[in-house]
Amino acid sequence: MKKYDLIVIGAGPGGITVARFTKSLRKEWNVLIIRKQKKSVIPCALPYAIDGTVKVDDYIKNDEKLLKSAGIDLLIDEVEEIDCENKQVKIKNGEKFNFRYLVIATGSIPFIPLLPGRELKNIFTIKDHPDILNILDVIGNVKKAVVVGAGFIGLEMVNAFANRGIEITLVEKENCCLPAGLSRDLAGIITDKLKEKGVKLYLGKLLKKIEGEGKVERCILEDGTVIKTDIVVLSIGVKPEISLAEKAGIETNPGGIIVNDFLQTNKEGIYAIGDCILKKSFITGKYVPGYLATNAVVEARYAVLNILNGNKFKFPGVVNPVITKIFDLSCGATGLTKDMAERENIEIITSDADVFTKEKSFPGAEFLKIRFIFEKEKLQLIGVEAISKENVAWLINMFTLAIFNKNTAFDLTFSQFCGHPPQIDVPSKTPFVTASIDVLKKAGRI
Ligand SMILES: Cc1cc2nc3c(=O)[nH]c(=O)nc-3n(C[C@H](O)[C@H](O)[C@H](O)COP(=O)(O)OP(=O)(O)OC[C@H]3O[C@@H](n4cnc5c(N)ncnc54)[C@H](O)[C@@H]3O)c2cc1C
Repeated sequence: MKKYDLIVIGAGPGGITVARFTKSLRKEWNVLIIRKQKKSVIPCALPYAIDGTVKVDDYIKNDEKLLKSAGIDLLIDEVEEIDCENKQVKIKNGEKFNFRYLVIATGSIPFIPLLPGRELKNIFTIKDHPDILNILDVIGNVKKAVVVGAGFIGLEMVNAFANRGIEITLVEKENCCLPAGLSRDLAGIITDKLKEKGVKLYLGKLLKKIEGEGKVERCILEDGTVIKTDIVVLSIGVKPEISLAEKAGIETNPGGIIVNDFLQTNKEGIYAIGDCILKKSFITGKYVPGYLATNAVVEARYAVLNILNGNKFKFPGVVNPVITKIFDLSCGATGLTKDMAERENIEIITSDADVFTKEKSFPGAEFLKIRFIFEKEKLQLIGVEAISKENVAWLINMFTLAIFNKNTAFDLTFSQFCGHPPQIDVPSKTPFVTASIDVLKKAGRI
């Protein structure tokens, strides 16, 4: 039986990062990664193959070549059992492999509610390559589509269908878009954009059943509304893939595999990362959803360094930075939104900045709306939300770092930022500084 220093189950962003990072630090370690899906993809790119922004082949990763060149063994098979006591994994054909360390990175699976009609043809979820192929197979005959769920992935699918000229209806049980992504008032800007693009919206409405003869023909909402459609995409969340861990006696709950501060499970030498684990918020310390590649890869780095250094690096929890683009609007958030902070009963002071992405007389200057959320007592930054026609990714990343470093309104007031009119507004108008000063004034601290 072959023995590995490290076996990784799952080759999503989390698993791949574990394998490659380990090998880059310990060349002499033999590392095996096992994944069950035939092709490895960039999941975040999937919706963009629907409208042809990228070709299907473009989001398929050449993991086989990449891992081989790094000296990592790849096995495309399903792990059926983990024997924690004997430190073995067993794959479908019965073959077993020994490990010194194991990292479980089995990810998540789309949540499908027990809806009447869920067995009909042309109902899809979006998680992997076959889902996109299945949609592309029928899309030629699709005139109308319904997307259920107005989270980031749902909206990206709406955008993709609309770009193909398909008549699109969005159904969401909360009465705003991006209910877990932006504060309600800011999400209103996205809602207005969807309306402007002709998307039919049913916000605050629950899908009750799907009907049709063999395949989808209509969706029925709880209030009796009937929506005719050729396909339905359910994008109402995911659940952690914990079945393997559960079977092995590893501690889990419905929110995921339970790990300690070092991302180790309750079993010696076995760690878990990514969508399959229960996550804590960096800000509140409470359990929060955080199904993001962003989280999976940082957890991977912590797990590797803890495996190699004997549990030295405490994972402080997820900040949850996230961005997307809906038609021509780039939007994102990091930390807690204003609405989330209020739901948590955190006393906050906020400041909104309506500024420009460049000095406003320069070509290409676009609006930039940013909201800063500070905890009232320490005046510590705990969240940022942003919308613009220009890319807000840099801004979300910069403030994720500020939140991670527990920066206060004073820190931001005294920070030094670059300015150059054709690229970014002039230093005297840096919105982060003016917002921080505003917060200090509101708090009576200056
Ligand atoms: C359409 C879409 C768009 C997204 N966009 C973004 C985005 O823009 N930004 C962002 O940060 N996140 C995004 N996400 C979320 C992101 O893709 C996930 O958070 C991320 O893939 C989680 O990584 P992971 O490594 O934990 O698990 P996954 O990527 O889910 O990978 C799980 C792996 O485990 C393997 N596996 C499971 N069980 C077994 C078994 N028994 N044996 C062997 N192998 C097994 C699977 O084959 C797979 O390789 C998006 C997701 C989707 C679906």
